Amino acid sequence: MFGVYDNKDGGGWNTTKDAYTSFVARPDRGKSAFFNNGGTAPRGSYQRGGFGGSGNSRWVEESRDDEDWSKPTQANERLEQELFAGGNTGINFDNYDDIPVEATGQNCPHHIDSFQDVEMGEIIMSNIALTRYTRPTPVQKYAIPIIKNKRDLMACAQTGSGKTAAFLLPVLSQIYTEGPGEALAAQKSGGQDNGKYGRRKQYPLALVLAPTRELALQIYEEARKFAYRSRVRPCVVYGGADIGQQIRDLERGCHLLVATPGRLVDMMERGKIGLDYCNYLVLDEADRMLDMGFEPQIRRIVEQDTMPPKGIRQTMMFSATFPKEIQILARDFLEEYIFLAVGRVGSTSENITQKVVWVEDGDKRSFLLDLLNATGKNSLTLVFVETKKGADALEDFLYREGYACTSIHGDRSQRDREEALHQFRSGRCPILVATAVAARGLDISNVKHVINFDLPSDIEEYVHRIGRTGRVGNLGLATSFFNDKNGNITKDLLDILVEAKQEVPSWLESLAYEHQHKSNTRGRSKSNIWV
Ligand code: AMP
Repeated sequence: MFGVYDNKDGGGWNTTKDAYTSFVARPDRGKSAFFNNGGTAPRGSYQRGGFGGSGNSRWVEESRDDEDWSKPTQANERLEQELFAGGNTGINFDNYDDIPVEATGQNCPHHIDSFQDVEMGEIIMSNIALTRYTRPTPVQKYAIPIIKNKRDLMACAQTGSGKTAAFLLPVLSQIYTEGPGEALAAQKSGGQDNGKYGRRKQYPLALVLAPTRELALQIYEEARKFAYRSRVRPCVVYGGADIGQQIRDLERGCHLLVATPGRLVDMMERGKIGLDYCNYLVLDEADRMLDMGFEPQIRRIVEQDTMPPKGIRQTMMFSATFPKEIQILARDFLEEYIFLAVGRVGSTSENITQKVVWVEDGDKRSFLLDLLNATGKNSLTLVFVETKKGADALEDFLYREGYACTSIHGDRSQRDREEALHQFRSGRCPILVATAVAARGLDISNVKHVINFDLPSDIEEYVHRIGRTGRVGNLGLATSFFNDKNGNITKDLLDILVEAKQEVPSWLESLAYEHQHKSNTRGRSKSNIWV
């Protein structure tokens, strides 16, 4: 199956090299010039309809050389309803606005205070209005002008801070202004190289890498909103789902691709995706991708294929924490970047009330029931457990006790996971039992209570988990069950509680003191939270 596509990759590489040569020779080093029609890009050189005429792909039909990508396409009432019906629920910006933001780097562009302060074009502005985002969140205030100014960005932002729109808005805005450039011609001739109409390789202009399917889907949904009435077609590919279906969707056209690393490598090796013209690269939850062991795939995608190198492409990395490995990735992938710290890096929000309670393993279930009863039946509660087996067992237990609950973990099929999420979000099953990996990056705006039935072994994971509540300025509650088994997280947990001005149990202080003392004598430590 792979053999069919072998030659084509060679062809793609040549195109890329030519494009680089002509680009690098430009003295202005403006990244956008790479695809700017004003340059040598053969946007007009391709004959309209020259590729097979009628075409069964939306993109081939719609992407003509003379089109102005900055102008909105026709409105579609049904689609508009579908995309924007959800709206925003209960966002409490009063709490959120105080979050400090610090931008460091050479010639850092000034932040904005309203979406109107920066020129993002007609399409973006009308889609912002449709989403009913009235003003930018702190990360958006800083990241939007930085990205619009074509600067690389490393952003340490809180979960739920509005970081998805922070990168999607300026990236899409630039794509609308610049149009498809050479990618349009390459996409069409890629099809000819294949010799098979309808099996064309796609050349996305922007790539967003995310650690989990759920996060990838969320980013994709947000991208669909901001791509409404534009010529940009977003696609999403992730593992664990039918690849054939994803390939068929890609073949309908793909200008912005959201992907998990493993599945993208697969698509590249099958000759379905070429990154030769991918001028915008976003790594979302980069720390998590590394934790999940995706570094080889990420490097394969970014450094060992046909993606334009750093300095030519624009690269944005988002991460909740900034440990050493992320600093190295930033050094390798970013060019003269601006560092953005939103809130205190690695810290948790003061919007979340954090409680740590001592609960022996044998008492956890009954303690959980007490908590659930106290929070009220209808508030969304996310319960984290360590293992997939543990998740199933706890779900069964709660079910038998008469609670409407569901679960999400790596052994459940993609369909089951999506269904579980849907049931949770809609409130039909207001209790979701989850393992950490499965729940990463979920944007469920009104989670009231996060319960660490089992605490994680590292503090970064803790920060991510409790970040599921208190999102975008809402108040949230996080309760963690602690016992002898959690000794290794004691000190970091104490630091986080103190920093977020939370009540600290005295036993935790004593334990932390003991641990510190012990590890001082042994030589410690692992604390890769950046402060
Ligand atoms: P994120 O951090 O990207 O997962 O975003 C968290 C939530 O905030 C999502 O539900 C977004 O739709 C919402 N959101 C993002 N930006 C804004 C904004 N400027 N105004 C209101 N809601 C927003």
